[in-house]
Amino acid sequence: MSDLCLEIAEILRREQSFLILTHYRPDGDAIGSQLALVLLLKGLGKQVEAWNDDEVPSKFRFLPEAGLITKPPAEPKSFDVVISIDASNWQRVGTVATKIASKKYFINIDHHVSNDKFGQINWIVPESPASGQIAFDLIKRGGFKLTPEIAQCLFAAISTDTGSFMFGNTTAACLRAAAELVETGIDVGELTRHVYESYPYARLRMLQMALADLHLTDHKRTAYFWVTRDMFANSGAKREDTEGLIDFARAIEGVLIAILFEEMEEPGKIRISLRSKHPDLDVNSIARHFGGGGHREAAGARITGLPKDVEARVLETVSAALKQAGM
Ligand code: 5GP
Ligand code: MN
Repeated sequence: MSDLCLEIAEILRREQSFLILTHYRPDGDAIGSQLALVLLLKGLGKQVEAWNDDEVPSKFRFLPEAGLITKPPAEPKSFDVVISIDASNWQRVGTVATKIASKKYFINIDHHVSNDKFGQINWIVPESPASGQIAFDLIKRGGFKLTPEIAQCLFAAISTDTGSFMFGNTTAACLRAAAELVETGIDVGELTRHVYESYPYARLRMLQMALADLHLTDHKRTAYFWVTRDMFANSGAKREDTEGLIDFARAIEGVLIAILFEEMEEPGKIRISLRSKHPDLDVNSIARHFGGGGHREAAGARITGLPKDVEARVLETVSAALKQAGM
């Protein structure tokens, strides 16, 4: 057993007040892992808060205690323990970070290879497909009870970060974990209906607009498209509705790198999502080049600049990476 796992389990047992954080614009792994820790600590009779700058995406609101995730309070608060889960750096946690008055322990649990170890205790497992998988290990090996409520959150976390157990990060260990989660009695079909089959129609309208302008370049090895501010306005889609759209570009035969450009609300800011389908193509290093990060197969960044300039810079960097890898 990892010493860090034991050390963290011991702190959870001993201390009383906890704040659980994750990254802004939370995805399934962020929300699922955050709620799993909240449920675990509540089960131990601890005081727990969970904050996020952004709302829980509607498709994850069915998860137990999702209503406990709130915006940060106006005045800073003190906690025995602050845990960040699934955030690769402290900036990714957002403005909630400014509302912590003091803490005895600062624990960083994450699976991003780009994690910069900002905590006091850093439990980083890059080979783990999801932060939810690390939380699962903490519960199992730390000797805590795996309840069906926790299992539901962890299944959502692991399922979403592995593309429903389809991506290359899917391991035997995560399939075994999934089996144990299902054994607690969770309803996988119901979870699927919430997470993958409850998209607002507006998301599909936006996807129609975006795919109408899908481009292939680098001898059809790179696929990219934009979601613009106009598309959001005209479709009525929300920012959270962009999650998963990039998979349509990634799934094209022959494509090795997929890029989604998103015009952000803040003028002059572009968010990029990157996906790689080849083990020799590391999109984390491309994202890092633009100040972002992530994993080898999935990464992102926020870039300042005019849309056309940002597009040209990113496409140039991707072309260079393909050339360098001999593709
Ligand atoms: P997505 O493309 O789904 O937003 O993110 C893919 C992966 O890249 C996620 O693991 C996410 O944490 C990471 N990522 C996305 N955007 C950023 C960013 O701006 N900065 C950093 N450091 N990581 C990012
Ligand atoms: Mn994750």
